[in-house]
This record gives sequence, C-alpha cells and structure tokens, in this order.
Amino acid sequence: MTRLPPDAPSASDTQTAQIERASSQPVQTSAAAGGVDRALAAIPGAERLAIGLARVPLRSPTLPPATTTNHYLVGASAAVLVDPATPHRQSQSRLRDVAVAWIAEVAPLQAIFLTHHHNDHIAAATPMARDLGLPILAHQATAQLLAGRVTIDRIVTDGEPVAWDSDGPWTAMHTPGHAPGHLVLRGPDGGMIAGDMVAGHGTILIDPKDGDMGAYLESLARMRTAAPPWLAPAHGPVLRQADETLQRYIAHRLAREARIYSALGDIAVAEDALLPVAYGDVARRFWPLALRSMRAHLLYLQVQRRAQELRPRRWRRLSDA
Ligand SMILES: [Zn+2]
Repeated sequence: MTRLPPDAPSASDTQTAQIERASSQPVQTSAAAGGVDRALAAIPGAERLAIGLARVPLRSPTLPPATTTNHYLVGASAAVLVDPATPHRQSQSRLRDVAVAWIAEVAPLQAIFLTHHHNDHIAAATPMARDLGLPILAHQATAQLLAGRVTIDRIVTDGEPVAWDSDGPWTAMHTPGHAPGHLVLRGPDGGMIAGDMVAGHGTILIDPKDGDMGAYLESLARMRTAAPPWLAPAHGPVLRQADETLQRYIAHRLAREARIYSALGDIAVAEDALLPVAYGDVARRFWPLALRSMRAHLLYLQVQRRAQELRPRRWRRLSDA
C-alpha cells in the first residue's frame, strides 16, 4: 500500500511520533521488529511516507542550496533502494541500517535503482550493492555515462516494473532532459519518485553538457499528463501540489525562453553579454550556473529555428515564422 495519506504529518511530526512510538513500545523480542522506524529516527529529516516508502535525506556533494540527496526505500512487497548517493562513511552506515531493517521487516530488497548518472546520486551505489548483494539498475544512457565508474548490472526501459506493493508495481518512466537516461518511478497510486525532474529545495539545472531543454520540457509535460498526486524529489521534501508544481516548472522555463529570445537581435551577441539582459532578475552569484542554463535554452531555440549560433558562443535571433 503506497497511497500517501492526504493529511500526512510533516517530517518533524513523523519523527516525533516515531521517537514516541519507539520509546513507549514494550521491549521487542525480535531484534528486527520496529527496526525501520528506529533506523529512520537516527537520521535527521528521514520519514516513513507509507508502509512501503521511506525518504532518507543524507549529506551529498550536490548544488546549493541543497546539501542532501534523498535516498528512497520503495516497495512493500519487493523493494528497491533509489539513488544511494552519500559518499560519507557514517551516512552510508546509517543507510545500511535502514536497508537491513527494511529487508527484515518490510520486503526483500531486489536492487539498487539509479534515477540518473550525476555525482550527487551515485557515490554509495557500488558499496551498497556489494554489502547487500544487490544488482544496480539504470537506463542504458546512464550505464554508458557511468562506464568505468559504476557497473550497471541490468538496463531498465520505459514502462518496466522494478518494485512492488500489494496493490501494484512501481514502474520506470523515461524522462530525459536533465540527464539523457533520467528515470522517474511511478507508484500504484500514480505518485512519483521524481529524481531531479523537480526539486523541493532550489531549482533544477539543465546543463548543456548532458542536458537537453526541449527533452526536459517534453518530459515535464509527460509527467503532468500522468497526473501524479505527489512528487518525491531527490532534494527537499515531498511536493503534494504535483500538478501545480509541474505547471510552474514548465511556465518558468517558457518565460525564461521568451526573455532570452527577446534579448537577441539581428546582430550576433556573445553569451556573456546576453546574460545580464536575460538573467538580470537572478542574483550574480548564480550567474555561472545561469550561463549554462541559458546556453541550454539557446540550443533549444536553435532546434526550433528561432536562434542561430553564428560563431561559437555568439547568437542572433531568427524571426518567428
Ligand atoms: Zn542531477
């Protein structure tokens, strides 16, 4: 059963309840009983979202303002561990405690599931796979990008079930854009483990190095069509206004695209000169990231035949047809 209660308590309430429950319970004869909630209570911000779903934020080398990546235990009948990201020994050991308790109390762990290849999602994948004897699952494009760093044991394709609750499977959904092999996990109630498609803290960077703005917008639209009741992102708390969130993300990108387009002219202008016009509303300290995001927008404008890179990093507008 994955259905999130509509008025689920906040993380801190849940933690308090867990701590109270743990302390008021009679001593258990089985070492494993109550172990998941106890293991979660040892991790600040960790929460049990449903019988077969837990969010475990742990320190990771991510982009500010986020400082943690959410590790998810998903599945009440057959489970996966999503995005073991933390490179820190102590955090890895706490994660292992949660995983071992999950196996004893909730469901067998079938695999480690990677939403995508970025550094703030993968650091614990190999050690956790080795310690727990699990295969690592990811999209083909993720496997290629991680070649030589993380061995992917099984390729996952769009629509494939990877974990189970009593009322149905968690299926993978290919959502390229932030990364070419990005996968979201869609649960029996339609709720999604959203990876880096949306964020509870900060924003999502589309870096032209491995991102694609057009694909990202298409993936957001596809997620919206599936009408998820909630989104569980890789960074920050669960987002319960899922449709509003997806709509806002799409609108934000289209507004930025319009602003960049209107900043272009008939004479080619350098990206450095374009930035203060197109991102004048963004604090200067974010400009290095904004420059990358702007280039992703420009490349997508070029795909749409609305802009042209006349010389490297110099752009001019092409009239709307
Ligand atoms: Zn990412």
